[in-house]
Amino acid sequence: MSFNTTTTASNASCSLASSQKTSVRGGRANNKLRAQKHAIARQNGRRASSLVVCDGTGKFVVGGNWKCNGTIDSIDKLCASLNSGKITADVEVICAPPMVYIDRVQSKLKAPYQIAAQNCWVSKGGAFTGEVSAEMLKDANIPWVILGHSERRSLCGETNEFVGLKTKYALDTGVKVVACIGESLAQREAGDTLNVCFAQLKAIVDCVTEKDWENIIIAYEPVWAIGTGKVATPDQAQEVHAGVRKWMNENVSADVASKVRIQYGGSVNAGNCDELATKPDIDGFLVGGASLDGEAFVKICNSAAHSK
Ligand code: PEP
Repeated sequence: MSFNTTTTASNASCSLASSQKTSVRGGRANNKLRAQKHAIARQNGRRASSLVVCDGTGKFVVGGNWKCNGTIDSIDKLCASLNSGKITADVEVICAPPMVYIDRVQSKLKAPYQIAAQNCWVSKGGAFTGEVSAEMLKDANIPWVILGHSERRSLCGETNEFVGLKTKYALDTGVKVVACIGESLAQREAGDTLNVCFAQLKAIVDCVTEKDWENIIIAYEPVWAIGTGKVATPDQAQEVHAGVRKWMNENVSADVASKVRIQYGGSVNAGNCDELATKPDIDGFLVGGASLDGEAFVKICNSAAHSK
């Protein structure tokens, strides 16, 4: 399936603003920044990896992607379980229910849970059967949307460029974005992991401004780890996260690279979250299967307490 995006780009200025290009700092400034960051990291007891240019700042953030699962009954039980769990960590939590239940979930979940949609259309609503527009999300007070999930890329034919346009449109409409990237097993085995991630990121960078990054979370989700029970090792995940942050430093700005939060997603569960959370460039998780189990999800959210 392919989408016609030619009529939809009106609001999405797809060129990198020149200020964005020039704001990438020179080598000496980067070294200074790196030294400062690492001094702060050491003060805070965080590990300073040699790969890391800038550890992410900001609150640990965990997302629950409920995908196309649930019934009224199971969703009500999940909400009750989440509300009764104690989130003790200083963490931002975002749940993404199926669209048909989103209003119900929003009225049931208490703080700190926020709501995300799992997708939205690339432009203003209209004759797009089956779609939901960013304007509708804004109107319904849905603050977040997940875009570019690998299932939408592979099953619905969403291209890097389409995801870039969608990201820009959602942001311009006032909806914050969890932007997913990640390589397939074949791409990893061919040694293309970082290049695939960088190409996916570039398509977003080409559409958004530097300021837009305040409202974007990157979710690194290796496709081979999604729903397979095959989690990336903490070192594998850290290596890609650090590479992504370095790329952001070189292609957007040091400031954005230092602040953007990068979630890991792919078979995160209550048993493996704590170790993953200790990695310096893992700033949160995007969780599929385990987010349907309230107790497990709360445990994953509380792994923020073990981070850095
Ligand atoms: C996901 O779909 O975003 C995901 C990470 O799924 P799972 O946790 O089930 O691998």
